Amino acid sequence: MRTKFKLLGIVTLMLLGLAVATIINVSLNFRDYSINSAIDKAKTTATIVKDGLTAHMVNGIMDKRQYFLEQISANNDEVKSLWLVRGKKVIDQYGKGFNDETMRDAIDTKVIASGKMYKKITEKAGEAILRVTIPYIATISAGNPNCLSCHDVKRGDTLGAISMEFDISSMRNTGLVTILKILGINLLFIIVALFLINYYITPFLQFFSNLQDGITKAYKGDFTHEFNSKVGGEAGEVVSQINTLFHKMHEAFGEIRVNLATFVTDRSNSDDPLYEAKIVINELSDIYKFKKTIELDENKNVVYSRIKDVLISKFKLTHFVIYEINNKHNKRNLIYISDAQLKSICDEKLVDDDAQKCRAHRTGSNVISTEFQELCKTCTADDLHYICLPFTINEDASILVSITSKDKADIAKFTSCIPSIKNYLEAAKPVIESRILMEKLHDTSLRDGMTNLYNRRFLEGFIDQIMSQAEREKETYHVMMIDIDFFKMVNDTYGHDVGDTVIVALSKILKESIREADLAIRYGGEEFVIMLHHATDKGALQVANNIHSSFAKLVFNVGANEKLQKTISIGMAKFPVDGDTIWKCIKYADTALYEAKNTGRNKIVLFKQEMFENNEGNTDY
Ligand code: GH3
Ligand code: MG
Ligand code: MG
Repeated sequence: MRTKFKLLGIVTLMLLGLAVATIINVSLNFRDYSINSAIDKAKTTATIVKDGLTAHMVNGIMDKRQYFLEQISANNDEVKSLWLVRGKKVIDQYGKGFNDETMRDAIDTKVIASGKMYKKITEKAGEAILRVTIPYIATISAGNPNCLSCHDVKRGDTLGAISMEFDISSMRNTGLVTILKILGINLLFIIVALFLINYYITPFLQFFSNLQDGITKAYKGDFTHEFNSKVGGEAGEVVSQINTLFHKMHEAFGEIRVNLATFVTDRSNSDDPLYEAKIVINELSDIYKFKKTIELDENKNVVYSRIKDVLISKFKLTHFVIYEINNKHNKRNLIYISDAQLKSICDEKLVDDDAQKCRAHRTGSNVISTEFQELCKTCTADDLHYICLPFTINEDASILVSITSKDKADIAKFTSCIPSIKNYLEAAKPVIESRILMEKLHDTSLRDGMTNLYNRRFLEGFIDQIMSQAEREKETYHVMMIDIDFFKMVNDTYGHDVGDTVIVALSKILKESIREADLAIRYGGEEFVIMLHHATDKGALQVANNIHSSFAKLVFNVGANEKLQKTISIGMAKFPVDGDTIWKCIKYADTALYEAKNTGRNKIVLFKQEMFENNEGNTDY
């Protein structure tokens, strides 16, 4: 609004300046014009008087001239007074004349002496008088009466002068009225101009002020401002475009804020979504790089070592310990200790043997020593402040990070890093989990001695873990149930050893047909389960076809010149499309296998819901 008053002020000053200049110009011109026209009138009167007097003289009626002179001033309202003045030579020749036609004042004397016209304006409150005195100079002119013929003068002598006083008050008043009129018109013009300018620029100025408010808010990351303006046309379009832009920005940043919050729990306390997004994206980017790196680490100890590196390099921790807790056995195991100072943080023997003694682990909540006196009873260091962060990997394992410092201020600083540290632990969780699983998978008690494939115990023990990981990571599995056709006949005809050979040969094909991330399980005697991890439908079918045809091509030498060839039937189901648990999908693959057996064997059958409804529970083959 200050701009508006400034602008209107400038325009007013300019218009007033213009008006004053016009008025000065008009009044000066008007004054000049008034005076000049009075002087012209005086000159004309002087000429008339001169010619009249000459005529009187020629006609010998000079004694009647007074009447003539009175008529002239009587017939002219503006001529206030008029008198004649005789020059010295004329007085010498004809005397002083009527009513003392000698010089009345200094002006007369001056004009008679100089022979030059004189004019003067005398202004008083009520009136303005123009005094003009015009000399009569002796001339010789052919045709006209010659001055020298009657007067004893020389050519160029001043015969006399005529003095007149004009009342130019009315001219002055007319000028004043004119000036007032011009002033009035100008003021009217200024008011109209200011009104129009105000009318047209106010919406723009309001818009600019509104724009400024919106941009100030946007600068702080608030895009909720609604721009409203009465400006129309192109400017109005700009307003609506800016509104659309701000709505989009608000929506986009709102979504970004919500989406980012799902990735990381750390929120900077800023109201600026841009700044917040920058912080969170940086954090996400670091976590992403960390995750990508640990995914390729071969075992959980390397992953723990990476966590240690991050705590040192990113969070600048200098005194801390990382423990791993075996939840099944309730034991605590030291993974990393930064320095000997920390040896006394915990009653090691006590807590290592009974992890439940660790307050943080037992309660599942952060233990920060500055929050309460002697918070953790197993802490043996009186001079250290600490933060103990528990973190559960799965039902088998948990992690505990203990950060210490002698300086209380450090604890407050590290406390603010807890959400971010947990983000890293969260990122490491599935990798540690899968590495723990891998370790277990190498456990021989979970493998079948004859084929070296996983056994049914493995499946029963690990399916829940596989399931929860699959659900969390949105993994898919194609489940195949495989059974050798008419296998009993092999045993019956060629003996158990031949039967074993066939089983081993099939398991070899199974191993060769799947990738490392897939699982092959000897489910029963000559029944196998294959779980293909993250395969396409086409890819999974290709694997099934490959297993099916490879096995069919195998030729077993079962006696002199006697050869044996066998076939298999395969039932397939996919998790989580066909069933929402892996167990259900195994069951459905079994149902599809039953269908294969019932419809001629030696084939691959994909599970369909109606098969289960028709043959529920019937898997006898
Ligand atoms: P189907 O086509 O319906 O499957 O007919 P099948 O004869 O194969 O029937 P089924 O699958 O029920 O037969 C399983 C047989 O596999 C029964 C059992 O004697 C045999 N078997 C189970 N484990 C072993 C093993 O480790 N070695 C040998 N040689 N045979 C086994
Ligand atoms: Mg069979
Ligand atoms: Mg069988």
